[in-house]
Amino acid sequence: MDFLNQEFYNLIDGKLVKPVKGGTMNVVNPANNKVVAVVPKCTAEDVNLAVAAAKRAKNAWKNTYVGERAQLLFKMAALIREHADELVLMETAQYGGPVSKTRNFDIPAAIEEFELMAGMGRSVTGKTITADPNARVLTLREPFGVVGLITPWNFPLVTAVSKVAPALITGNTVVLKPPSCAPLTVLKMAEYAVEAGIPAGVLNIVTGPGTEVGEAIVTHRDVNKISFTGDSHVGKRIMELAAPQVKSVASELGGKNAMIILDDAELDNVVETATYAAFFNSGQNCGSPSRLYVQEGIYDAFVDRFVKAASKIVVGDPMDEKTMMGPLAYNACRDTAERFIESAKRAGSKLLLGGERPTSPDMKDGAFVMPTIFEVYDNKIDMMQEEIFAPVVGVMKIKTEDEAIDLVNDSRYGLCASIWTRDYRKALKMIDRLEVGTAWINQHLKIVPETPWGGTKDSGWTKENSMLVFDEYTYHKHIWLELGDKPHTFWESMIDIK
Ligand code: NDP
Repeated sequence: MDFLNQEFYNLIDGKLVKPVKGGTMNVVNPANNKVVAVVPKCTAEDVNLAVAAAKRAKNAWKNTYVGERAQLLFKMAALIREHADELVLMETAQYGGPVSKTRNFDIPAAIEEFELMAGMGRSVTGKTITADPNARVLTLREPFGVVGLITPWNFPLVTAVSKVAPALITGNTVVLKPPSCAPLTVLKMAEYAVEAGIPAGVLNIVTGPGTEVGEAIVTHRDVNKISFTGDSHVGKRIMELAAPQVKSVASELGGKNAMIILDDAELDNVVETATYAAFFNSGQNCGSPSRLYVQEGIYDAFVDRFVKAASKIVVGDPMDEKTMMGPLAYNACRDTAERFIESAKRAGSKLLLGGERPTSPDMKDGAFVMPTIFEVYDNKIDMMQEEIFAPVVGVMKIKTEDEAIDLVNDSRYGLCASIWTRDYRKALKMIDRLEVGTAWINQHLKIVPETPWGGTKDSGWTKENSMLVFDEYTYHKHIWLELGDKPHTFWESMIDIK
């Protein structure tokens, strides 16, 4: 399956265009390392054109009735729905997520995100403040103007939509840069934007290397806000680049997420969820648990069942309906995972499952890593501290709840964690001490658009989804309406104004 017969264009000022310098780059299927499409490779010149178009469009878009903006988002949702079959295959071909995932999650979630934001965004409101009896004080929620959106490859379309939809409904204009390895579905969105009638300049999409195109967006004087999802190191670089302009940066970054499994956990539920959450999408989910802290009373039973369940995951061609786990997104991701596997072995961890590439000849050219589980004895080793973003999990035996909390918090990341116990009172008290943005009890990786998502520490402090996302795309403008008859100043008796 390839898309070599299709032309892909950027979207600038309402037109589908090629880059000024005519550059191109290949998109490669990680399951077999074959080129599946050729896309535009932009430069800073294209970014300048896109930002200029977004700047020209921003006042008219801000002043467009929110209901009209919502109708355009509903049209985008309808076009994605209409083209869902092609988008499913494109998503799978460009980054290796199995069709069972791209069909059942990615594309429906992108549709839902447009529709949900089109509805919720209409009721974004400011506040009134009644502190001073001689005034009426209110706050308006204002769009930033031109916002730059930079997105990763692990859920290429839905991550882009989860930024585009709230940005547009709140009246911002957008310059979006998708990931270079997986830009196809976002480029199809460029076509739908033209078909839906989104006004020229309101949504601009440019493809090209993060170090050039991404940085040109971040440093552009006319871009007032950046929303970035990706690796923590890249996030820090973006914050550094944005700092001289005091530019607002929303960042959804990496995670090193934990499950705490206590003696009284429901074993069937925790085994099933751990297997799914750790290995779904080949572990390439920001919320995947890669550190499992298991209390000693349940440890042997859990580990035995977890390893057996993970060994039954069907790894293979992501285009095959039966495949549960495809390859990693590209070869360098596999190589990184393999380096962590070797370093865990050198650190004395015990390999319980996997640790190798699949042996089947049809997978030999792909970026595959089998589901891998280590028994770990030291929380300080690389694989318990660094985000691997692969199907590689460390399991560690713990004695007490306090020990579990200390181990979870002993991380520079703070995206999410879960606690598995029948005792909700105990779990809620533990959650008070966890330094994470999302904490589940008896659940993991359940993320729905109505609930907020985002972390702490090196995972970034931003919230996406839910009503809270609108805080990322608007600022509060404070308006004071004076009702008093006379001015009140501290100079009243000191100055003669006559
Ligand atoms: P990267 O950080 O490598 O890339 C993300 C985006 O940033 C890409 O579009 C990339 O462009 C661009 N980029 C790269 N360098 C720069 C730069 N110097 N300036 C501006 N933009 C740049 O992340 P991945 O695509 O590898 O995605 C995986 C990461 O995303 C993981 O760390 C994961 O945890 C995180 N993530 C976090 C989520 C959350 O909600 N917290 C959700 C999903 C993923 P290019 O592709 O051209 O390099």
